[in-house]
Amino acid sequence: KSREESLGIALVGLGSYSTYQLAPALQDTKFCHLAGIVTGTKAKERIWAERYGIPAGNIYNYQNFDTIADNDDIDVVYVVLPNSMHAEFSIRAAQAGKHVICEKPMAVTVAECDAIIEACRKAGVKLGIGYRLHSEPYTQEVKRFVREKTFGKTAYVNAEAAYRSAGNPDQWRLNKALSGGGALMNMGVYSIQSTIYATGENPVKVTAQEFSTRPDYFKDTDETVTAQFQFPGGATGTVFTSHNANANSLYASCTGGWFSLKPANNYGPLAGESSNGPIQFKHESQQKLQMDDFASHILYGSVNRAPGEMGKRDMIIIEAIYRSISEGNRSVPL
Ligand code: NDP
Repeated sequence: KSREESLGIALVGLGSYSTYQLAPALQDTKFCHLAGIVTGTKAKERIWAERYGIPAGNIYNYQNFDTIADNDDIDVVYVVLPNSMHAEFSIRAAQAGKHVICEKPMAVTVAECDAIIEACRKAGVKLGIGYRLHSEPYTQEVKRFVREKTFGKTAYVNAEAAYRSAGNPDQWRLNKALSGGGALMNMGVYSIQSTIYATGENPVKVTAQEFSTRPDYFKDTDETVTAQFQFPGGATGTVFTSHNANANSLYASCTGGWFSLKPANNYGPLAGESSNGPIQFKHESQQKLQMDDFASHILYGSVNRAPGEMGKRDMIIIEAIYRSISEGNRSVPL
């Protein structure tokens, strides 16, 4: 492929998601390829250079990262760092003139989301959030049901996104300074997103609760959060997110039927059913589909399936959920 047809991507932060999902997926993408890495761990430089044939000139650390501006091999910077580092590196990438993919959750505050959006706007670069499900066929089918009113209007949606965490208590996800929050920041975005695409609306009011059963392990971050949404069209939504239990589903009850995905938000294959019968699609790497969608957005102007505004919207909802919890579970308008 010519350079015009395949964009060079640099992954920033070579942790488990970059190592086991994104880099392998980038071996199969059509419109982009792995061209560079940014890492704070010296030992990973040689391992990745050998594994993926990355030239020395396309390897950066967090200090010299800004010189990526001079590297024509890199078109897109993909920020795959702990959440509290997303804003800084997305903004530095934009200022270096590179298009940006920022992992979920977009940042740790709405103000940071605004700063990323503004930096990308000012630099004239594209911004996408790592919401892989928007490029995934089961999720797209749910969005089609809602758009075409296949089962009428959604009246109730329930979404769960949770897993039981029992590993290293010092991991960054359990450290608020690095994660910005616990289960809600990490998995909550999936359940919030599910309720939004299963209704086709943004919630207008939220009430939320927090549960803590293992305070010795979850010292610094939320363990389990439940929230209830009111949607402008009259639908009710409930979400469950947790680092203490495994749960992964979406169920929507509509005026003329129902649909569900279970699992709804892992790497797939997902599975689904509806009152019209099973939902079935061929499985493909979600990360491959996501990165090709973003690359073709840049190259050919196709739709940006997960723009920065979507990441910001979800952060507004997350902040409202935390506000409801901290203010005695009161109902918070959005
Ligand atoms: P890991 O802990 O596995 O990796 C994070 C990497 O960030 C580290 O390996 C390290 O890379 C770098 N890093 C820099 N500073 C720090 C620090 N102070 N503490 C820890 N790591 C640091 O995390 P994940 O790969 O699982 O997650 C990274 C991001 O990707 C998160 O925002 C997460 O929410 C998101 N994610 C999204 C998924 C999705 O499905 N969309 C799935 C999984 C994660 P290095 O050694 O190269 O410097």
